[in-house]
Amino acid sequence: MNTGNDISAIHILDQATVNKIAAGEIVERPASVLKELVENAIDAGAQSIRIDISSSSDEIVSIRIVDDGCGMSQADARLAFTPHATSKISGIEDLTHIHTLGFRGEALASIAAVSRVTLITRLRGTGVSGTKVVVNGGKEPEVSETGAPEGTSVFVEDLFFNTPARKKFQKSKNTESAHIHAILEGICLAHPEISFRLYSNRREQLVTDRTTFLPDTIARIYGSEVVKDLIPVELSVSFIKISGFISRPAFVRKDTSRMMISINRRYVSSPTITAAIKEGYGSLLSKDLFPFAFLSLEINTGLVDVNVHPTKKQVRLSREKEIASAVSEAVTTALFSHDLIPGGTPPSQPQIIAPGREAVAQSDAHYDLSAPPAEGVRETMHSGTAFTDRQLRQTELITGMAPADAKLPVMEVIGQFGGIYILAATDAGELILIDQHAVHERILYEQVSARTEGLHRSQELIIPVILHRTLKESSILREIIPALTQEGFILEEFGRDTFLVRAIPVVLGKLEDTTMIDEMVSDLVSDEAERSINAREKIARIIACRGAIKAGTVCSPEQCLRLVQQIRYAKNPFTCPHGRPTMIRFSRADLDSMFKRT
Ligand code: ADP
Ligand code: MG
Repeated sequence: MNTGNDISAIHILDQATVNKIAAGEIVERPASVLKELVENAIDAGAQSIRIDISSSSDEIVSIRIVDDGCGMSQADARLAFTPHATSKISGIEDLTHIHTLGFRGEALASIAAVSRVTLITRLRGTGVSGTKVVVNGGKEPEVSETGAPEGTSVFVEDLFFNTPARKKFQKSKNTESAHIHAILEGICLAHPEISFRLYSNRREQLVTDRTTFLPDTIARIYGSEVVKDLIPVELSVSFIKISGFISRPAFVRKDTSRMMISINRRYVSSPTITAAIKEGYGSLLSKDLFPFAFLSLEINTGLVDVNVHPTKKQVRLSREKEIASAVSEAVTTALFSHDLIPGGTPPSQPQIIAPGREAVAQSDAHYDLSAPPAEGVRETMHSGTAFTDRQLRQTELITGMAPADAKLPVMEVIGQFGGIYILAATDAGELILIDQHAVHERILYEQVSARTEGLHRSQELIIPVILHRTLKESSILREIIPALTQEGFILEEFGRDTFLVRAIPVVLGKLEDTTMIDEMVSDLVSDEAERSINAREKIARIIACRGAIKAGTVCSPEQCLRLVQQIRYAKNPFTCPHGRPTMIRFSRADLDSMFKRT
């Protein structure tokens, strides 16, 4: 009688099916094929790697990688296509010190399972005859002898021909090409000692030369403009060595696509390290901007687990926190040991003022020298001047500051332009344009954030300000009252959803305009996006912004000078708390070239 006990639903998959399933993990798309084959060439000690992509109007048709690495014997070339065949590790104990990019022995088998592969190779230092191996969709390899140069070439065509589902998921040719570029750029930057050449339908796409100087590679990929704005990073502590280049804070992007990190020469994507780099910039960069960074991390192999994902794009780090803080420290040190005033970029279309009709009309509009200043202007300026004086007094330097603490050179003030930009000259003959609001905001911000507990001076308002808030705002406000108190506000609840402001920080000056307090509180409770920043930081930024000399405030030469003196001693004089530049520099050469004097 059949009891059902001998009916079997489970069976062992045949090897070809197993390989195809495994291939799915490694060979996601054409770019993964390129990555695996290029990594094999690097592991083979190649000095020069050439990649040829050919594509039809809508898809990538074939990929060929040629290297001048060590090559393979005939026996190895045949074995290389067997799953889990590798020359790079021999046992589990090797997994803790991987020095090669590959080690799983899966790539060639996987690629061959879903395409047609022709591999031609000759072992370095052996005769003239090499080996040709052809594998067709995971079938038995056909091996023959052939004439071949030293090194290896792998030709992959008909990708996913036997995996229709995967083929269907390929994105447009442009998307796939973009992936190929992104991966290859990362690999080039991790291996400046190798020359890479990428051709697409025989057209040159990307070429790097062998070099020991990474900026050469960066220049080949992103253009020489980028290199000018890079600062070297170098830090070595017990278990990690960090080296590479990062951009000046004025040279940024809206995404992280120019943050290229390699760990032990493997180009990886690591949100932890990316965040650590950003952290190193601190308030030099606003939160939605990202620097250029090309960093190489050499970490004890025992601390890096590369075996977390078949494509090894992610790695797992032990002592991750220490590694991240070493990265942040390396970045901060690099930034602050450099002069970070951005240079002015000459406009690409020089705006030459020609004596044409338009130019005349324009200059008439801008420089109306005939009209006398309107009545009353002087009066406003007068009280404004006194107010500016008070604002400047708040941020006057603590006496006894050593001149060595100055982060900027001595500057002579030439004048003020448009009620916002201060023009100054350095001894070195450079013209510096300074944003008066941004610099004062920076100075105030540093003062407010540096102040240690119990030292916040507040000034009582003669008439307390009453604030009415919505229910939601009130609850936020209630939460941040302790933080506000620390900064010198005295705020108390006064009936339902109403608050009384009795005192404000001294740095805000005597507030003639009490609506400012109301606006400040609005800033504090709104700004949903900034919620992640802690209350204290937020308050510091708002006080700085509100307390700083406004754009449009006419300052006397003496006031300009005081401000310039103060910013020289800021910890970070180069950006405002939101990450915008505080000043821009024009060298004599810059100006000469703008005037075409060169
Ligand atoms: P892995 O790289 O993980 O070892 P692969 O399937 O990528 O696995 O390659 C299998 C083996 O084939 C490698 O270990 C290496 O010995 C050999 N091999 C592959 N590509 C090359 C190449 N371009 N040059 C020399 N040897 C190669
Ligand atoms: Mg490999």
